[in-house]
Amino acid sequence: MTAFDLPDLVHKIFDDQEVTPDARAILAQPDRQIAVSVPLRRDDGSLAVFPGWRCQFNTTLGPAKGGIRFHPGVTAEECTQLAFWMTIKCALMELPFGGGKGGAQVDPKDLSPLEVERLARGYIGAIADVIGPDRDIPAPDVNTDARVMGWMADEFAKITRRHEPACITGKPVCLGGSEGRTQATGRGALIVLDAWLEREGRKPEDVTVAVQGFGNAGAHFACLAHERGYRIVAVSDSQAAIHDPDGLTPSKLLDYKQKEKELSGALYADSSVKEGNGGEEIAQEDLLALDVDVLVLAAMEDAITEDNAGTVTAPLILEIANGPVTPEADAMLVKDGKVILPDVLANAGGVTVSYYEWVQGRTGERWGAATVTDRLTERMEAIAEACFDRAGDDDIPVREAAYAKAITRIADAISSRGDRSYFAG
Ligand code: NAD
Repeated sequence: MTAFDLPDLVHKIFDDQEVTPDARAILAQPDRQIAVSVPLRRDDGSLAVFPGWRCQFNTTLGPAKGGIRFHPGVTAEECTQLAFWMTIKCALMELPFGGGKGGAQVDPKDLSPLEVERLARGYIGAIADVIGPDRDIPAPDVNTDARVMGWMADEFAKITRRHEPACITGKPVCLGGSEGRTQATGRGALIVLDAWLEREGRKPEDVTVAVQGFGNAGAHFACLAHERGYRIVAVSDSQAAIHDPDGLTPSKLLDYKQKEKELSGALYADSSVKEGNGGEEIAQEDLLALDVDVLVLAAMEDAITEDNAGTVTAPLILEIANGPVTPEADAMLVKDGKVILPDVLANAGGVTVSYYEWVQGRTGERWGAATVTDRLTERMEAIAEACFDRAGDDDIPVREAAYAKAITRIADAISSRGDRSYFAG
């Protein structure tokens, strides 16, 4: 078992809330980690084998739930960390799920589309024994999307010889995916941002936004926020960053990126992506330091560390990526008076609509896009408001309020299943 250190924040909450010894012990380490070999028959006939993992951190509240990542940086430790965050997120969102995560250490950009399909099928073959609608339900994450989930669901059906649409979420709609799942993470983040700014009496038209990470989650957030009236002045991906103080049109950028596979050059190729006459390519790290009202982090972990936290000027940070601010940087930013809308809340729209997809998969019902959006909005607004209230009442950061709510829910469930107080009594 790979060692896992619970964040200091969790230990603080354990003490503040007098969490029982049983719950502390159970949450201190993952329920299950498996390491697998993921075979891939290359187009040239050779066989490549990549290391892969699946972690089910905690299943007190229900089957594990969490994405699958294909990236060269995937490790057992990273899967465990991400599965822990999923545990907190699902509990916070009051979903009947525990937390899981998995992936393979591979760069899909080096593979042909058919090789990615075989890799996806190979990964599911490797973890098929531990997943399923009542055990562990994978979903998309970095470098995996609806198409990849479709291949994975098909492979699982072949292995089990059963039609089980609730085994994987984030599938294409024609294979039992939910309407609204593709935009759900970005939409959820926007709902949280709206709720915060409404408390401050701010209007979207008066708010400038920079988005690091113009991928699945970040690009949809940028498009929806632009539609809502926010001024998106900068976006970046792993190759480039572009900035126009007058504002960009993210939907045009997305069209450009889908066609050209890169952001770089978008400003010059099609003037309609910018709303003024300015605009320039900037260094990616300079985007993080821009003088904007909201900095959105939608790329990867550890975007803001002790080394660059001091350069951030935005007063409000919206975490769409998982873990984009290290604990040390978080402390620096909070001390500096900045507000962080944390990942476990801000990016929870994805897993919430995944839950709606799982419900539809199990009941055979189909919900329209408006129903999904209404239910997502209602749930996210209520939980965001509860976190903001708790943060205000206890004078603590929103992250601490969110973790405190989640840990209470898990700890109560652990106690209700029977703990040492029963034996003592
Ligand atoms: P993605 O691969 O589609 O997008 C990631 C984007 O970040 C890409 O455009 C990539 O080029 C860019 N990027 C990588 N390094 C960068 C850097 N140094 N500077 C600027 N951009 C950089 O992945 P995604 O699904 O959008 O996930 C992004 C993050 O959001 C991850 O942390 C993921 O765990 C989290 N998340 C995603 C979802 C979802 O539904 N997609 C849900 C919850 C959380």
